[in-house]
Amino acid sequence: MFSQFALHERLLKAVAELNFVEPTPVQTAAIPLALEGRDLRVTAQTGSGKTAAFVLPMLNRLMGPAKVRVDIRAVILLPTRELAQQTLKEVERFSQFTFIKAGLITGGEDFKVQAAMLRKVPDILIGTPGRLLEQLNAGNLDLKHVELLVLDEADRMLDMGFAEDVERLANECANRQQTMLFSATTGGSGLREMIGKVLKDPQHLQVNSVSELAEGTRQQIITADHNVHKEQVLHWLLANETYQKAIVFTNTRAMADRIYGRLVALEYKTFVLHGEKDQKDRKLAIDRLKQGGVKILVATDVAARGLDVDGLDMVINFDMPRTGDDYVHRIGRTGRAGAEGLAISLITHGDWNLMSSVERYLKQKFERRTIKEVKGSYTGPKKVKASGKAVGVKKKKADAKGDKKGADKKKTAAKGPTKRKTVNRPKADPLVSQDGMAPLKKRVTRPPVSE
Ligand code: AMP
Repeated sequence: MFSQFALHERLLKAVAELNFVEPTPVQTAAIPLALEGRDLRVTAQTGSGKTAAFVLPMLNRLMGPAKVRVDIRAVILLPTRELAQQTLKEVERFSQFTFIKAGLITGGEDFKVQAAMLRKVPDILIGTPGRLLEQLNAGNLDLKHVELLVLDEADRMLDMGFAEDVERLANECANRQQTMLFSATTGGSGLREMIGKVLKDPQHLQVNSVSELAEGTRQQIITADHNVHKEQVLHWLLANETYQKAIVFTNTRAMADRIYGRLVALEYKTFVLHGEKDQKDRKLAIDRLKQGGVKILVATDVAARGLDVDGLDMVINFDMPRTGDDYVHRIGRTGRAGAEGLAISLITHGDWNLMSSVERYLKQKFERRTIKEVKGSYTGPKKVKASGKAVGVKKKKADAKGDKKGADKKKTAAKGPTKRKTVNRPKADPLVSQDGMAPLKKRVTRPPVSE
């Protein structure tokens, strides 16, 4: 029961209004400590209820004795626009019986309109680091009176090259009394460094271990001969599986567009989301998916971050994600709040070793599935090592038969930086991939699965 927490009655009223009955594990663990004012480092995935875990204690703090001055008193930093928008909605839902006001600052929106909003000084500012920094540099933002800072999806912010921006913004909140950092994964040395810099004697709450993340979701692989064959398998799955809504993941923008084109030609009602889509397209895609007008979304990893759509019960990895963490994030789209989900990865000869690394990372073995109607000739390596990797398989050349995955990556690198709407991220830009995902070089050169 939420009444177990020492939350203001107006917040409990909002919680009741939203039909939240039982707190989720992350809420049970984090809310009391957050209310005490502790710095927290929380490992919990999207879908675990982590937003309420920090928003409720934040609102509770802000409901304390009113200050004479009007200041921005809390800041929430997030990696993507969608996530920021969803968080704003969550804040508005929980603060509906209070006078607390929140504002949103993300890239892709009108700078002057944002500056005007800032002049009204919201109590809570929610935003992505790049644009917040631009507003700061333009002199439109004063963070000196911020009491509470939340870094949400910190691991992903680092992946996206936001480390310096986040640190700079944290330094601007010099008088803060509390900092909470949330990440879906335990992260690597970059995250440890950030934790050392921004948190003070934090309590670490690890709510989900990686191997528990995909509970409630069946995980399968289907082998395929090449990308054209993958398309046939995909078509079969979309036509024959039972699902409410499906998301098809690709590693590149080019592949997302290609699959989208194929599905449209097959008369599926579908949308495509990737880093190059503008804000209107993204909103439309998400709204249609939520309303149910569209059942299928083709997306790259970054575009799908923080998506919280009810009834998303099938995830298809057209391309195997490049890291175990990305796999966890993708699969986290389905099987939410105890619902059943199905995650299917399409695996060619070139994907096998990556797939087996992800299995080892998750300490799970995916179900092997064959569909006789679209069965190909590749059924996995003839011999596998104890690690599950293929014996004697060399990396395939990018332009090998049918497998365009590598070729797409090459093209990506040759094409250079993606046009960006935000500035101040010179470090990340030269390495940004076509879909606006994390710096490509960094992602490709780090081991396929991180710690
Ligand atoms: P999050 O992990 O914060 O993105 O939350 C995932 C979804 O679960 C959101 O739609 C929340 O509104 C919902 N949610 C969070 N906590 C609860 C709860 N205790 N009971 C029911 N739904 C919840």
